[in-house]
Amino acid sequence: MRPFDPTPLARREVRDLESYNAGLSSEQVSKRFGVSKIAKLGSNENPYGPSPQVAAAISSAIIDSGLYPDASCGLLRDALAVRLGVAPEQLVFGNGSEDLIAILCRVFLDHGDTLVTVTPAFGLHTLYPQSLGAHIRAVPMLEGGRFDIDGLLEALIEPPRMLMFSSPSNPVGSALSASQLERLLEALTPATLLVFDEAYYEYAQGSPGYPNVLARLSQQQTPWIVLRTFSKAYSLAGLRVGYGIVSSPALGDLIDRLRTPFNVNRIAQVAAFAALQDEAHLKAGLEATNRERERVAKALNDMHLTVVPSLANFLFFKTDNASDSLHEALLSHGVIVKPWREPDYRHWVRVSIGNREQNDQFLAALAASMPH
Ligand SMILES: *Cc1c(COP(=O)(O)O)cnc(C)c1O
Repeated sequence: MRPFDPTPLARREVRDLESYNAGLSSEQVSKRFGVSKIAKLGSNENPYGPSPQVAAAISSAIIDSGLYPDASCGLLRDALAVRLGVAPEQLVFGNGSEDLIAILCRVFLDHGDTLVTVTPAFGLHTLYPQSLGAHIRAVPMLEGGRFDIDGLLEALIEPPRMLMFSSPSNPVGSALSASQLERLLEALTPATLLVFDEAYYEYAQGSPGYPNVLARLSQQQTPWIVLRTFSKAYSLAGLRVGYGIVSSPALGDLIDRLRTPFNVNRIAQVAAFAALQDEAHLKAGLEATNRERERVAKALNDMHLTVVPSLANFLFFKTDNASDSLHEALLSHGVIVKPWREPDYRHWVRVSIGNREQNDQFLAALAASMPH
């Protein structure tokens, strides 16, 4: 018997949705191309791995795996609140920050509501809103990867329900300047929730011109949430811990209503807490990545490719090849990147900054794959 097609049973928005492009795993690439050494540079993972203290903390926590986790992430919450200088009630936690993006959309976006974002964008910033029937207004980034503040201000004249973007931008790598941030915040009204996705905060803070977004937002009278994650700089992507800093406990309370109670598991909470303590490990990883990023950027420039200066752990560059075909060519050399697929960006590729050896493998594969 042929199974009945369930598609018509799904909501219209879901039927029209494309699946998130989560990329290929190393195992899949090894198998398909018969290469053993894979440089996985498609998901902005941290090649240096978590602090050794994380492994120790996880080992001793395993014995308690039969117990549900603390639904409020108490220990982690208190430690982060002190670190960030915010009230513990100003924090919300997610199974990765993508969990919080999904929850925020379900709490705030109704059918026909407008979401303003930028393009190119992190896929989930549009996928979740679309799944709820929200109308998406995407303001294209300008030449050189700059945010189009005038364009964003125009999109805010009729206040949207939500304004969501990442800075540093995934995939572009550029960030809002202090004066751009100021203009944007001044244009917001209480009718719009600002979702400021700062997943790459740790890489960017300390760079000249990178604003202290949290400090500025604490002066802001309209509702906001800053999203951060343990997946990138802390190298805990496999354990799924993200958090948000909210403008008021009331906003945290709304988010908690649609959060599954145990969304951050016990091991993940312990791991994030331990990762937070090892500042030396964090700092060493950030320095190595930022140094390698500048080396790779220079190599791409020397190949006459257009590369956007980046404050994050990846680079966005333009090639003469269609991004999908370059991606295929790189795969055959064991290199995984992220070919961009939004209209107007199909010649753009995002490559994560790996360790030195992985970056060299990428640069060699790229040189071999480009038209001569
Ligand atoms: C990686 C990333 C996330 C997701 O992080 P998780 O905490 O692993 O879910 C969110 N936003 C942006 C912009 C990212 O690049």
